Amino acid sequence: MKFETRAIHKGNHVTDNSGSVVQPITLSTTFEHGNEAGLLYTRAGNPNRISLEELIASLEQGADAAAFSSGNAAGTAVFQALEPGSHIIAPDDMYHGLHNSMTKLFKGIHTVSFVDMSDLEAIKAALQPNTRLIWVETPSNPLLKISDIRKIAEIAHEHEAILACDNTFATPVFQNPLLLGADIVMHSSTKYFGGHSDILGGALVTKEKNDFWTKIRTIQRVGGAVPSASDCYWLARSIRSLAYRMKGHAEHAMVLADYFLVNPNVEKVFYPGLKSHPGHEIAASQMSGFGGVVSFQVKGGAEAADKLISELKLFANATSLGGIESLIERRAAVEGPDTLTPPNLIRVSVGLEHTDDLLEDLDQAFSKIN
Ligand SMILES: *Cc1c(COP(=O)(O)O)cnc(C)c1O
Repeated sequence: MKFETRAIHKGNHVTDNSGSVVQPITLSTTFEHGNEAGLLYTRAGNPNRISLEELIASLEQGADAAAFSSGNAAGTAVFQALEPGSHIIAPDDMYHGLHNSMTKLFKGIHTVSFVDMSDLEAIKAALQPNTRLIWVETPSNPLLKISDIRKIAEIAHEHEAILACDNTFATPVFQNPLLLGADIVMHSSTKYFGGHSDILGGALVTKEKNDFWTKIRTIQRVGGAVPSASDCYWLARSIRSLAYRMKGHAEHAMVLADYFLVNPNVEKVFYPGLKSHPGHEIAASQMSGFGGVVSFQVKGGAEAADKLISELKLFANATSLGGIESLIERRAAVEGPDTLTPPNLIRVSVGLEHTDDLLEDLDQAFSKIN
């Protein structure tokens, strides 16, 4: 079955005899012993989470998926599943929440080298005998840098390390890291999976059900950072339309990227769909679309960037991305003092409003910073 069809039909198990077309929400926290589904207690598993996991595994073409209460909980589970004393290679522009998880929660447990993941030689140079995990995020946040998943998977596997890919920005609509050689895929389902800025969630998907995955499952069930049955229901409901939303987001992002490219107030545009983007060719070889996030640098520094944002009416100035509504944010302002993000960089999560309206709003806001 094609992606769109799997997204609509996988993980929809009507559990009663009502003839419902859609699987209901099972709120019960506990299940009678000896039940046919083998359910025990909701933290260990419940019908809605099982269905959501089946759906996400199918979209990433993995062997299994595990749903978590947030993207950070999902990523943290991977670091926790490593043997203590492991070395990790991670992107120097890693999503700051997971950067925090690695450096704060695993300080004294694992060691990390942060490198430029678009530079294969830098990755090789960072390898240590105890390197057990290479983490990539492609396209990256917020500079939209591209890592070559196939080549990095080879490097990882030659060194008996696993490759995990944060696929939040690309989504399985545009990129399937497991098919390119990655072992684990991570998602913040808060973003495009949820798609409406109203659900917090995360997921991991594995290529194989191996010992590492058994550990992840234990961390999920015993650690207990799991989504509620209702959240699983709403997330599955949102994922049903993911393919169509992503096509819209990517089409609109391209329109805005082209607009920024010729705008005299813009210093630089970051979007992997642009031929001028340094990662464009690799992106085109591993993605079937370039996603819905565009970043750009405004002439006039942080001050001009803040002024532009304050003049926009349709773009909400807020953290996060992946919702149907356009969001805009000056990233350096939220990432704190050690960020590598330039101070005049604005990240746009391009929504599904009509692009004529988005461009009109941008035009009026740019006219005020001159
Ligand atoms: C938001 C995000 C995360 C963290 O997910 P939460 O759901 O906020 O915990 C991880 N990686 C990327 C790329 C993200 O955008």
